[in-house]
Amino acid sequence: MGNLFCATIYEYLARILGDSHNSNRNAIGHNRYEQISTTVTSATMTIQLEKASTQTEEQEVLLGKSLAQLTEWVQQQGQPAYRGKQLHQWLYEKGARSLSEISVFPKSWRESLGNYPIGRSNIHYRSTAPDETRKYLLRLADGLILETVGIPTDKRLTVCVSSQVGCPMACDFCATGKGGFTRNLKSHEIVDQVLTVQEDFGQRVTNVVFMGMGEPLLNLKEVVAAIHSLNQDVGIGQRSLTISTVGLPDKIRQLAQHHLQVTFAVSLHASNQKLREQLIPNARHYTLDNLIEDCREYVQITGRRVTFEYILLAEVNDLPEHALELAKLLRGFQTHVNLIPYNPIQEADYQRPNERRIQAFTDILRQKHIAVSVRYSRGLEADAACGQLRASRT
Ligand code: SAH
Repeated sequence: MGNLFCATIYEYLARILGDSHNSNRNAIGHNRYEQISTTVTSATMTIQLEKASTQTEEQEVLLGKSLAQLTEWVQQQGQPAYRGKQLHQWLYEKGARSLSEISVFPKSWRESLGNYPIGRSNIHYRSTAPDETRKYLLRLADGLILETVGIPTDKRLTVCVSSQVGCPMACDFCATGKGGFTRNLKSHEIVDQVLTVQEDFGQRVTNVVFMGMGEPLLNLKEVVAAIHSLNQDVGIGQRSLTISTVGLPDKIRQLAQHHLQVTFAVSLHASNQKLREQLIPNARHYTLDNLIEDCREYVQITGRRVTFEYILLAEVNDLPEHALELAKLLRGFQTHVNLIPYNPIQEADYQRPNERRIQAFTDILRQKHIAVSVRYSRGLEADAACGQLRASRT
């Protein structure tokens, strides 16, 4: 397991360092990779992961900017302030993909702006599952592909957004983790996913869950910026936005300090440390006790509840003893447990438990006064369900 963790970190750092030092990848990139990899310890792990992930190139785009920022931008371009409001409306309500289509702008200005980047992606591929869930492969400005999912229900349209291309966490049951990590997304690339689904369904998005590719807390700055933009620019209530994390040392506290009103979900998946390490390599650097303590602190700081997600893997973590242990772990914690029956992926040979086992697990938690529900992922047949995103056309 230790080797697996190191291999993941190696790959993660090498990718990023390699990417940002393409010209001398072998000479310099390799040395830096060796040097950094030897310094990875449990205490520095989160910092290393984060430092590495900030080394991506910045290109200014308009999407993701607030009304005030857009107003400033138009004024810098020598235009009156009210054009900022028009631009805001065209970007977020009308979903403009280029400045040239903003017909209320003077033609001469539009022409002079040329192809100034707005920050929208292109739909590379789309598939629809029998339950109407739509999975999109979106092509970003640098050619990378990410996945996003639109999930329609009676009154809602939920988007499951990615926060990274790939994921460095390498959870053993997750297709994204098996594919390794490429880079962090910028906030506009997260907002774009929501606008794309909204446009494609021709219907307002009501909810956003950060449960696509990636670990949101490893990209906290951009995720928080995206949340503010989705809230203030796209107009989705913070409580309708959900951040899901596997948990990293220090990161839950950092998130709490933003005092967001979002829904916060922690991917627990195990009732004891040994089992958790088996399923989530990174967990060896963050004990269950510390994780739960940080969640309690999160509740204190934000006044918001924490939800725990628990994937159900037959014979692995779904035995009655696991349910009892989980109930004990969460005793006295005002929380809700979401049980997620495993969605099969090619790279792992776990099994989804049958209904009887799922019911037995649920019953034990209820008897122990833990609020629990079973969440069947949508989009299973289109490989669009939780954990199945791997940026492939299957
Ligand atoms: N990194 C974040 C968000 C992405 S995963 C996190 O771990 O929470 C979103 C959810 O899907 C998590 O609860 C994750 O554990 C779950 N998931 C991953 N693989 C799955 C699979 N094969 N079947 C069911 N759920 C899965």
